[in-house]
Amino acid sequence: MTETSPPGRISELITAAAEQLKARSENPHFEAEVLLSEVLGRNRSYFRAYGDQILSESQNNAFLDLVQRRQSGQPIAYLLGYREFWRHRFKVSPEVLIPRHETETLVEAALEEIRDQTKPSVLDLGTGSGIIAISIGLERRDARVIATDKSPAALKIAKANACHLGCGETIRFFEGDWLSAIPKHKRFDLIVSNPPYIAEDDPHLESGDLQFEPRQALSSGPDGLNDIRKIAQGARHYLKPQGILMIEHGFNQAKPVKCLLETLGFSAIQSVQDLAGHLRITRASYGTPQASCTK
Ligand code: GLN
Repeated sequence: MTETSPPGRISELITAAAEQLKARSENPHFEAEVLLSEVLGRNRSYFRAYGDQILSESQNNAFLDLVQRRQSGQPIAYLLGYREFWRHRFKVSPEVLIPRHETETLVEAALEEIRDQTKPSVLDLGTGSGIIAISIGLERRDARVIATDKSPAALKIAKANACHLGCGETIRFFEGDWLSAIPKHKRFDLIVSNPPYIAEDDPHLESGDLQFEPRQALSSGPDGLNDIRKIAQGARHYLKPQGILMIEHGFNQAKPVKCLLETLGFSAIQSVQDLAGHLRITRASYGTPQASCTK
C-alpha cells in the first residue's frame, strides 16, 4: 500500500494497513481500525457492517497518511490528538506526556484519601495534559484544585481540557517549576504528582512512544529521582498539618522513595500497587495534628 493507492474497500484497506503496521505494533489490526475510525468519524463496529464500502479519495489519503505516520513510530495518541483516561477523553499533543493507566491508580488512591473531607484542597504538580487535576476535580466538585506546570504549552492543553470537560471555572492553573509556582501562603490537604522519574540514561527513552514524548516529562537525573526529591522537600512547606503527599514513581523506586520521605520527616508511608502489581504510588503524611486537637 502506498500513498498513491486508489481508494479501496474498507475491509481490504484495514487488512493492508494491519500488514504494514505489523512490525511496529502489537495490535496492528486494532490500530488500523482505530485510525480508520478517526478518519471516518465512525466507531469500529461500522467496519463489520460496511466492509465493502469504498472510501472517497480524500478519506483514503487521510487514512494512508495516518498509517504511514504510525509506521514511522509516532504514538497513536498523538496521531488521534486524544487519549481516554479515567472516564474522560483528554486532548494531547507532543507537548504533553501521554496519559498512562498507572496514573488511574493514583487518581483512585487520591480520591480515597479525600473521601471523608469536605472542600478538600488539592494540588497537582506537573499537570501535563491535566488528567490528574481534572479527573479529581470532576469527581469531587467541592474540591479546590490547583494544577501547575512549568511548560506554558502543557498548561494551555490542560486548560483546554478543563474547559472542554466542564471544570474550567473551578480548577486554577499556575505556571512554574514544582512548588515555586505556588503562592507562599497556600496549604493543601493533598499534594499529588506524576513527575518524571526515568533515569536519564535509560535506553527505553529512545524506544516506542517514549522517544516522541517530551523528555522533561519523562526523565529526571541519573537515578530518575531528582524531581521527586525536589517535590518531597518542597511539599513539606505546603501541606496542612497531617496533609498527604502522593507520588507516582517507577516500578522499582518504592524503596528509595520511602527512604527519602522518611529522611525528610514524613510518616505513615505506604505504597500502592498498580494493575500490573508493581508498587507504583507512594503516599505519606507530614506534620503533627494542630495543637488545638491535643488539648
Ligand atoms: N500529570 C500528567 C500525567 O500524569 C503529566 C505527567 C508528566 O508530565 N510527567 O500524565
